[in-house]
Amino acid sequence: MRGSLAVAFVAVLAVLTVHAVTQQKLTPEPMRIDKVKDNLYVVRGPFNACAPNGCGANSVDDGLLHEAGDVAVRVTPDGVIVVDDKFAPNVPDVLEKVKSITTQPIKYLLNTHHHTDHIGGNGEILNRGIEVIAHRNIRDNIIKNKQPGPPRIVFNDQASVYLGGVEVQMMYLGRGHTNGDTVIYFPDLRTVHSGDLVIDGMPVIDYNNGGSALEFVKTLNNLLKIDFDIVIPGHGRLLTKDDVRAYVPKLETMNKRMAELVKNRVTKDQLEKQLTLDDLGWAHTVSTLTFMRSIGQYYDEVAAAMK
Ligand SMILES: [Zn+2]
Repeated sequence: MRGSLAVAFVAVLAVLTVHAVTQQKLTPEPMRIDKVKDNLYVVRGPFNACAPNGCGANSVDDGLLHEAGDVAVRVTPDGVIVVDDKFAPNVPDVLEKVKSITTQPIKYLLNTHHHTDHIGGNGEILNRGIEVIAHRNIRDNIIKNKQPGPPRIVFNDQASVYLGGVEVQMMYLGRGHTNGDTVIYFPDLRTVHSGDLVIDGMPVIDYNNGGSALEFVKTLNNLLKIDFDIVIPGHGRLLTKDDVRAYVPKLETMNKRMAELVKNRVTKDQLEKQLTLDDLGWAHTVSTLTFMRSIGQYYDEVAAAMK
């Protein structure tokens, strides 16, 4: 999954859970901005009937609503810090949404990971003179995948932005969805933006960009050590710390099931049928569809760890 395939991989994550899939008709909705806490907002949508960004000639209508990565907006008296910027064509709309809640200018744009539905707007943001900050692996992935807008400022483990008396932390807690997943922490508001480490759906593992189902568990346990109560996930409704706590044993269960399939020498073409996800609440969602594309690599990772 190189180049265009890698981009396609990242473009189909969506907000939907099994609840929404059971609805008969799904109505596309425009982008919107919602308050999370005082001085913190989330920009969600647009919710499209096709991936990745509207119903174009090559897009897939799978009957599910697809949402570009969710954007966090932190307002301070000296300017705004924004997390992620969706697809490039979404940037003007994102900037309008920010303007609708504050007259302060955007000073910094922080990236959660390199996928195009989250940071496809980086080039547009840099062109507007806003500085982009990201983990070194995110920058490496952006360059490897020939995406626009590699950040000019990178860090290895942790970075902080201080603005208007507010600290916003960028924390690298280990591999999971990719090898660059960065948790953005708003300590005074006890809130994190988790990128796609935690979404309102099943986790997706991008093996071509350093993702790991086995490391994912450790990374989520590291996340749980942080003092927060609300999660802005990469996609979907706001979650709580308890939602993250519940995510971990599900992932462990899935990993154990995959280990059983490896032990029983189930062939790769049978994996999708044999890996049970229904009781975890993870079957039949958009992220399930995305997850299944890398199920062979998931098998390989688990098999290698058993040797
Ligand atoms: Zn992603």
